[in-house]
Amino acid sequence: MKIYGHSFVALAALAALATAAQARPFTDPRAENIPAIETDAGFASQPRDPACHTSVLASTGGAIPAGPSTLAIRWTGFANFELSYKGQIMLLDAYFDRGSNFPPLGFKAAEVTRANVILIGHGHHDHMSDAASVGIRTGATIIGAPLTTAKLLSQSVDPQKIRTVSGREPIVMEFGAFKVEPILGRHGDPPKTLVDAFGGALRAVTPKLTDEQLAEFAAIRSRGVQDPRVVTEGTLAYLITLDNGFRIMYRDSGGRVTDFEKFAMERVGRVDVALVAVSASYLNTVTVPQALEHIRTYKPDVYIPAHHDAAYNNLWRATEPLFQAVKDESPGIVTVSKGYREPVCFNTDHNVSRAR
Ligand SMILES: [Zn+2]
Repeated sequence: MKIYGHSFVALAALAALATAAQARPFTDPRAENIPAIETDAGFASQPRDPACHTSVLASTGGAIPAGPSTLAIRWTGFANFELSYKGQIMLLDAYFDRGSNFPPLGFKAAEVTRANVILIGHGHHDHMSDAASVGIRTGATIIGAPLTTAKLLSQSVDPQKIRTVSGREPIVMEFGAFKVEPILGRHGDPPKTLVDAFGGALRAVTPKLTDEQLAEFAAIRSRGVQDPRVVTEGTLAYLITLDNGFRIMYRDSGGRVTDFEKFAMERVGRVDVALVAVSASYLNTVTVPQALEHIRTYKPDVYIPAHHDAAYNNLWRATEPLFQAVKDESPGIVTVSKGYREPVCFNTDHNVSRAR
């Protein structure tokens, strides 16, 4: 017994040493705000990259990452994201001026003066209402499904700046260091009984919109598509691949995964980052299985949710139950949910398409 005990202790000590030797230096989460804490070897050897430490969007005049491999991702409400990389700016969705019934994003559409490419997931107003004005001001190329781009053409966007894609045929578009593959997805379709019940309860306990707010909403809504075909024909997922192989899957609605998405993912295997809308179904018993379907399909290293914020008279969609369910199944996955405009930076040389 004694010998066994000694051996066990020795083995345990060896295992602990091995773990310590392999462990990477930790990064204190406070390091983002307190430079003195930023002491791990990887960071200390280089200056702080302003693009990774401020909440000013690159598209409103903020810094683009200085590091040649650094990608900055910022969430700006609903399914809007800004990607900045190698001197370029890509916007995913464009719904910025949301009206007085929404928490402020900290910038206005009119302040977005720089963008190279805008990808629109689908044409509902809460995904594209500022796409035309931002596209015209920045000269960015805008990509969308036929329903989406028809709406852009009706808003005086230069046809030369528009790319219409169905997502049914494999197409790869290159924009500098970004490769973009549109894939036909499917819009979320929350059960009507749930939506009606929660909607009714919320209306009973929240202030009615004023006439001014109703007019404001009508104007914003008119800059989007209200065609029911958006569900099956107008919702695109985008596989974005950087020049070094780093992959991002973007999906701006929490609907079922399509065969087009499955085929694309069978080809590439997995992605580094998934930016995926949370289902609008309120209840965790419905939103969790939908998130698991997305995550099992895209197999990301890092999961960043989208579309989880809400107007003042609605509910934010809970992300923690999704994170917990995803981690119960895939303990290695990293989940990140930041505030509006806060950067998440990646060293993209470290990516799933390279052996590591
Ligand atoms: Zn929608």
